[in-house]
Amino acid sequence: MTIDIIGAGIGGLTTAIALEQKGINVRIFEQSPELKPVGAGILLANNAMQVYDKLGIKIEENGNTVSSMNITKASLKPISKVDLKYFEQKHKVKNVAIHRGTLQQILVNQLQSTQIFLDHKLIDIKRSGNQYQLVFDHSESIHSDIVIGADGLNSTVRQKLFPNNKTRKAKQICWRGIADFELPNAYKNELNEAWGKADRFGFVQIAPQKVYWYALKSFKQSIKEFDLKEIDGYFNKYAPIVNELIGATPKNQIHTAEIADLKPTNTWYQDGVCLIGDAAHATTPNMGQGACQAIEDAYVLSEDLSKCAPNEAFQNYQKHRMPKAHKVANTSWALGKMAHLSNPVLISLRNFAMQITPKVVNRRQSRQIFQLASV
Ligand SMILES: Cc1cc2nc3c(=O)[nH]c(=O)nc-3n(C[C@H](O)[C@H](O)[C@H](O)COP(=O)(O)OP(=O)(O)OC[C@H]3O[C@@H](n4cnc5c(N)ncnc54)[C@H](O)[C@@H]3O)c2cc1C
Repeated sequence: MTIDIIGAGIGGLTTAIALEQKGINVRIFEQSPELKPVGAGILLANNAMQVYDKLGIKIEENGNTVSSMNITKASLKPISKVDLKYFEQKHKVKNVAIHRGTLQQILVNQLQSTQIFLDHKLIDIKRSGNQYQLVFDHSESIHSDIVIGADGLNSTVRQKLFPNNKTRKAKQICWRGIADFELPNAYKNELNEAWGKADRFGFVQIAPQKVYWYALKSFKQSIKEFDLKEIDGYFNKYAPIVNELIGATPKNQIHTAEIADLKPTNTWYQDGVCLIGDAAHATTPNMGQGACQAIEDAYVLSEDLSKCAPNEAFQNYQKHRMPKAHKVANTSWALGKMAHLSNPVLISLRNFAMQITPKVVNRRQSRQIFQLASV
């Protein structure tokens, strides 16, 4: 059996590695002419790191470990803290912040037999007898028995074969950058996210003297309400380090994105085709779980495919993964709204409620996220 994966993102690459390890042939078709990740960081939480540990992929020494995730006020005064050491001990892996490019290179280097066909943008997928015809924009069509759609939020596979799906716009803009910056020691193994008024700013070290930061603001009508040149001014009510980080990043290396997710759908597969990662359950980045959920998909789907025929495996994969992935998407959506309150009274109430939330409640939520499905 050969499985064709559309998309060489974190989800597609991790799935290819996991399937190869089960002795399954894989081909990947990627639209980009070269594998060029956005210059930003990513947090690989404990659940993703458990999967990479199972696959024997070494990540930790190429990134920076994160033992605490803190929500703070704009001044960086703490509001709430999730201590990750408990989970590090429980699952024997750490949370790691890493450059996206470094992660991508590690994953590509793991592939043994899988060929990645670059410059292959899928523009259509059609049933053709017992197979699917994959139509690419400037390459020949091919026929495929089994297809995995790992082509992200705006997945062509999903739009062609599962048309009843809708993306949701969060009306938030996100800037991301990597600064050459020496963080004070206190911050070196923490992720701090400061919440202001309808905006927030997060930062985490990803390598020595390299700090990944992200900043979000709500907009009313259009992303065009903001101008990159003005970014320092947008966060001038924040702690000085925030503007130092923005100032230490060349403006032409700051990336912007509009935040959106996929409204939870009720089916991820049909005969011979299955969706994974953002194509199946894109989430807003508020919990730092989008890629982690794609990595969990890769693990579960490869286990299921190694045990039964593809359609039964797809059914089992959906059963194992859908409840958690949808819970993450919905919780993340609500968290994004809560983080961007603008009414000062509601902000005070929110901060007070978060300050008095018992540690045990925060720990229970993290436990559910970090626990992998038993397959
Ligand atoms: C601002 C921001 C911050 C984030 N931070 C985190 C974080 O800290 N931790 C975390 O876990 N997640 C984070 N995420 C989410 C994470 O980036 C995504 O969930 C993850 O990249 C999804 O991986 P994927 O492989 O499913 O899709 P993608 O990464 O979108 O990859 C899809 C691939 O398919 C290719 N493709 C698309 N269409 C076609 C086509 N028609 N034909 C061929 N190829 C195609 C694309 O070029 C791409 O290579 C963040 C997201 C954002 C926006």
